[in-house]
Formats: sequence, structure tokens, C-alpha cells
Amino acid sequence: MDEIKQEKARQVLSRNELQVSNLDHITRKITIIYLVLGLLWILLSDQALAALVQDPDTYHTLQTYKGWFYVLMTALVLYGLLHEQMKKLKNSRQKLLTSYEELESAYEELIAMEEELEHQYDTLKNKQEKLLETEEKYRLIVEGSNENIWDLNIKTGRMMFSRTKEMLGYSDDEISSTYEGWKALVHPEDILTVQKAEEQHIKGRVPYYYCEFRLKDKSGEYRWIQSRGKAACDGESNALRMAGSHLDVTEQKRMMMEMYDMAFYDKLTQLGNRSLFYDHLKKILSSHHRRKRRFALLIVDLDDFKRINDTRGHIVGDKMLQQVAQRLGDVTESGEMLARSGGDEFFILKPRIKSLEEVKNLAVEVLKTFETPFSIDESEFFISASIGIAVYPEDGEDRDTLIQHADVAMNEAKAGGKNKYRLFDHNIRERVASWMEKERGLRYAILREEFLVYYQPVLETATSKISGAEALVRWNHPEEGVLSPFHFIDIAEETGQIVSIGQWVMESVLKHHKEWRSQNDLPLMVSVNISPAQFKRHDLAEWIEDLTRKYDMKPEELQIEITETVAMENLEHSITVLEKIRKLGIKVALDDFGTGFSSLNYLRTLPLDVLKIDKSFIGHLGKDRKEAAIVRQIINMAHELELSVTAEGVEEKEQVEMLQRFGCDNLQGYYFYRPVPETSFRELL
Ligand code: C2E
Ligand code: CA
Ligand code: CA
Repeated sequence: MDEIKQEKARQVLSRNELQVSNLDHITRKITIIYLVLGLLWILLSDQALAALVQDPDTYHTLQTYKGWFYVLMTALVLYGLLHEQMKKLKNSRQKLLTSYEELESAYEELIAMEEELEHQYDTLKNKQEKLLETEEKYRLIVEGSNENIWDLNIKTGRMMFSRTKEMLGYSDDEISSTYEGWKALVHPEDILTVQKAEEQHIKGRVPYYYCEFRLKDKSGEYRWIQSRGKAACDGESNALRMAGSHLDVTEQKRMMMEMYDMAFYDKLTQLGNRSLFYDHLKKILSSHHRRKRRFALLIVDLDDFKRINDTRGHIVGDKMLQQVAQRLGDVTESGEMLARSGGDEFFILKPRIKSLEEVKNLAVEVLKTFETPFSIDESEFFISASIGIAVYPEDGEDRDTLIQHADVAMNEAKAGGKNKYRLFDHNIRERVASWMEKERGLRYAILREEFLVYYQPVLETATSKISGAEALVRWNHPEEGVLSPFHFIDIAEETGQIVSIGQWVMESVLKHHKEWRSQNDLPLMVSVNISPAQFKRHDLAEWIEDLTRKYDMKPEELQIEITETVAMENLEHSITVLEKIRKLGIKVALDDFGTGFSSLNYLRTLPLDVLKIDKSFIGHLGKDRKEAAIVRQIINMAHELELSVTAEGVEEKEQVEMLQRFGCDNLQGYYFYRPVPETSFRELL
């Protein structure tokens, strides 16, 4: 535009120059024409006139006219020439004027352009100053803040970091300030993640770039970095530049992972916990549901683990659990999930089973791992486990049903003598139903006076005379007849109903005893079982004391029985309560001795009067010499501790003879009497 205008001005100027040089030329032309015409006239007109006219007067007159003519003619010619030139001059003046005007407007335009340029220059300068200012500001912000800022020029690949290198322990020149230099520090496993995150943002799928990855520090360790950023694009959405920050989140990550471990892993055994197992089970349920596949859920519960914990301490218990986890880990294959669901219970999930045989084999394998003893702190321990199995989908189609049914099957295995596995089946389902019915029935049993007390005589070994009796509760069920405690005592214990049942038994026994005495004044020891729930009562001694007063009972004729497990659960409490009871003159017997893990030390600390050897020992007498030796030792040991010994479950003559030889104080068992109703017992007396 500017160039066009300049060219125009140049043209106008050169045209004017041309016209000025023309004017000189015309002046010269007119003068020469005039000179030539004048000279020709002078030379030719006189001669021509002389030739034409001889008369001198005429000649003179004509010569005057000729002079006039000449003046007239030259005046005309001059006029013509001058007129034309003047016209031309006028024209060119006019042209000059317009050119001038054009020139002036071009000049004005030029001035305007210059002003515009000046203005543009000013704004540019302004902008540059502002840019410098913001650049300075950003530099100060970056330097002043603790943030690790990075800035990547995508075209050149140059990458600037404010602090990242320093943070990783590198000096500035150790790592090149390029994208490639930075990428070399990224953990190989994280490169893909980083690339994906960049792509997502650059393609506009996410408004910000966000990624977590590991960068190698100078010591060779990887640090977790959280990076955020944003890309600047050109008009065609090509990223030109990306900038953002790096934040070291190694510590947070570590804590997060620890929290994850805490939430999903069992610290003791390093196995997954219940939550992780549930997670896994959920996935298996949905995938097996889609593909119509079967899988098995096994619950492995250690038998009598509580006793180990109670008698050997938690450290030994923990070590045992670790070893159990290890062994279970050895028998489970990859694809099968093993978890510790809590306490001494483990879950195994066996996916994709084709036949029940596979599951049974696994259960047998698990039971086998318990055959070898566990050695802990140079001692050896035996423990067994009971396994309950539920199979998807036949035994349950959801998590809770499957677990509940596997649990029921596991309890069946325990009830069936432990160290066994049981598959959930419909009989179990029926038993569960009857269990629930019994629970309901038990609530009314006391009100309806459906309980009875049976008595099993206890004999003095030396004289074979009845020295006392153990009171054993029975439930006279309206439909099922007289039920042994085996059918309801666990339910009552679990629901807490055992406390009122126990109270009823105790009162009934004291009432009966009072009646017996009124008929027969011989001393008779009566022994009452105390349930775990009853034993937890802090006022147990006071309650018994009140009752003995109420029924005018001689305390030395009353005995309570607690099991080893109950006594060991809270030794301190046991000692306090038992001491109080013994102070009243009431006897204390330790029931089912030998099934637990009581050591001699505990027996020494517990305030006891009687040791009742469990029937499982007595049952083996005469068949197993080792067992006989144990029973003999128990009796000797008890006597050393000044405890009297009662043998339970005596069924054979041979057993009676052996126990007599060993010096057992009292005998109880079917060999002599079964538990009998109160009226029958009264007759026996
Ligand atoms: P326990 O205290 O060990 O009672 C002895 C059990 O052994 C009784 O079973 C008795 O009938 C049985 N028994 C006695 N002699 C023999 C024998 O020669 N061979 C065999 N195989 N068994 C024999 P019962 O009456 O079924 O009682 C089972 C358990 O129920 C008792 O075991 C006791 O722990 C509990 N129990 C019974 N009555 C009460 C009670 O009133 N309160 C509480 N809390 N528990 C009770
Ligand atoms: Ca008992
Ligand atoms: Ca017993």
C-alpha cells in the first residue's frame, strides 16, 4: 500500500519535469521558425515583387503593403503558435495542479501512516514491557514458592524445572533439561501411564494433565511424584507448550499403601483379611454367575485354639497362627484364595470346580497339614482344624448365604468330634431350622416349667458307696421328649438364656437337697455345673451365699463345677471368684480336666478342691497303656496339690479296678448309674 502511494508521487514529479524541458524546446522552435520565415520573406518577397511589378510607384506602394502584410502574417503566425503553446501551458498547469493535489494527498496519507506506525510501535513497546514484567513476576513466584514447576516446549523438547532436579538430589548439569532427559528418570513401569495421561489431556479428553509416577533419585531409589499441568495449544489444537508442577508424594503413598495393607491384609499372617476376601468373592460370584461355573468356599477353624492362647500366651498363639497360615499357603494352589477371616478362622476359595471330589481332596490335604506338630520356641504342639464347605450355587447364591452355610457345616464338623471336614447339606439345613426352633422354644421353657434336674450318683472308690451326685439339667421338650443338654446347652449359652436356666437349676438342687435331708440325715455332696456366662457374674459368690441361706444348706455339701476353659479365660477373675466361694465353705471342682491345656502351674494358682478327669481319658483306660500312665500321673499330681480326684465316664469294670489301684477318690459313670430323675435318685438314697 505504502509502496503504491510512493510510486504515484514519483510519477507526478517526473511528469512535471518533462513539461518544463518541453517549454524550452518550444521557445527555441518559435524563434527559429520566426527567423526562417523573416529571412525567407526578406530574400524572396522583394525579388518576386520586382519581377511582377515594373512601375516604381506601384512597386513602392506594394512594398508598403507587403510590409503590412508581413507584419500581419507574422503576427497571425505568432498568435497561432503562442496561442497553442499557451493552451498547452495551461493544460500542463492544470495537470501540475492535479498532480500536486495527488502528491499532497499521498503525503497526507504517508503522514497518517507514519502516525499509525508510531502508534503501533508504542503499543508493541508497551506490551513488551508488560511481558517483561509478568515474566519477572513468574520468575519470582517460581523461585519464591516451594513448588517444583516444570515447563516443556513441545516443539523443541526443552524442559525447564524449577526444583525437580534438586529435589531428586541431582545437580543441574547431571540431567539434561529436555523431555528425554526427564523421561529417562521415570520408572519403566510408569512410562505408559505417563504417556497415556499426556495424550488424554492433549487430545482434550481431560481439562488438566494429572499423573502419578516414580522418578529415580540420585541414590537410585524411586520417589513417587504427583504431576499436574496444562497444555497451551495453537489455533489447530496442536500442543505447543505444557507446564505444571511436580509434587513429591512418596510419604503419602507409603502411608496410603500401609493403610491399604492395614485395611486388606492381616498383619500377623500376611494373608488377605476378610475385606479382601469379600472383594475377591464378589468378583468370583459375578464371573461364575455369568459363566455358570461352580466354586467352593471352605472355612477352616482351628480346634480348641483358644486354649493354646489362654494357657501358653498370645505370643505362642500368634506364632502358631503364622505357621498355620504358612501350611495352608503350601496346600493351596495358585488361583485359590486363602485369607484369614479373623481369630483362628481361615477362608479358602477354590474357583472353577468340576466335581466335589476336588474339594474333598483339598479338605483332606488341609487336614493332613495338621498331622505334624507345630514347633514353637522349642516346644511341640498339636492342633487340629475343622472345615466347613459350601459350594456355589447349590449351597447359596450370594456371599452371606455361602458363608453362613459353610459356617454351619464347620460347626457340624466340630460337633462331630473335630478334625473333620463337612460339606453343607440339606440335613444340616434341617438341623439349622431345628436349632432356630429350639431357640424359640427355650424362651418359654422356664415359664412352662419344662426343665428337669437329673442326678448322677458319684461313688466313693474305697467304699463303693454313693457320696454325692452331679446335677444335670434336662429339657422335657413338649414334642421331642426329654433332651440332654447336648441338644440345647450351646443355644442357651449363645442366647444368654443359660443364666436363667442355671439359676433355676441351682434353686431346684437346693430345694431337692433340703427335702432329702429331711428324710435322711446322711451327708450328701451335690455338684452343680456353672456355665461360662454364669461364671462371668461378679456377684456369683454372693448369689450362691444368699441361696444357701435361703434353703438352709450346709455349704460343705455343695460343690460347683467349672471347666478348665472357663477358669483359664480370665485367671484373675477366676481366682477372686473361686476364693470367695471357697471361703463360704463351698467346694470347687475343675470339670473335664485334660481336654484343655492347663499346665501344672495354673492348677497351682487356682483355688480348687476337686479335679474331674474327663471321660475321654477314662474311656481309653485299659486299651492304651500310655493313657493309663497319664491318668495315674494326673491323680498323683492332684494329690500332691491336695486335690481330690473324681473320674468321669466310668463304664467298665476294668476301669474301676485301675482307678482303684491309682488311688482315685471318687467314681462316676454308667458302670454304676446313669443320670436319673430326682424321684428315682431319692429312691436310691
Ligand atoms: P459334664 O459336666 O461333663 O457332665 C457329665 C456328662 O457325662 C453328662 O452328660 C453325663 O450324662 C455324661 N456321663 C456320665 N457318665 C457317663 C459315662 O459313663 N459314659 C458317657 N458316655 N457319658 C457319661 P449330660 O448330662 O448330657 O451333660 C452334658 C454336659 O452338659 C455336661 O457335661 C455339662 O457340661 C452340661 N450341663 C449339664 N447340666 C448342666 C447345668 O445344669 N448347667 C450347665 N451350665 N451345664 C450343664
Ligand atoms: Ca460336670
Ligand atoms: Ca465333665
